[in-house]
Amino acid sequence: MDTTKSSAPPTTTRELRGLALYRDHGAEITHEGHGVYTVPGCGGGTYTVDLAVFGGEETCDCPDHARHPERSCKHIICATVYRATARAAARREQAARTKARASRASLAPLVALGG
Ligand SMILES: [Zn+2]
Repeated sequence: MDTTKSSAPPTTTRELRGLALYRDHGAEITHEGHGVYTVPGCGGGTYTVDLAVFGGEETCDCPDHARHPERSCKHIICATVYRATARAAARREQAARTKARASRASLAPLVALGG
């Protein structure tokens, strides 16, 4: 691995911009289904991000991604963070539901006896 290259793009800046975009506009992201997200841009418009859940390349229709299709633009990073967060929330919700069901199930025999 060559770590001495100085021509590498400052990806951390892009990632930080993606995280900042999520922090400021994460609530405005909409999931269109099948890994496609509408992500707000800084200029007021929106961009369509496809996280390629069925394989292939992640895409975004912003000018930045058109110029550098080999890199994840901040909208793709933003959508990735959104998806990860939504999944974590869904897992927590699922765990809570399972737990509630389990406790109801363990009470069921008692309820049956009482009725
Ligand atoms: Zn983009």
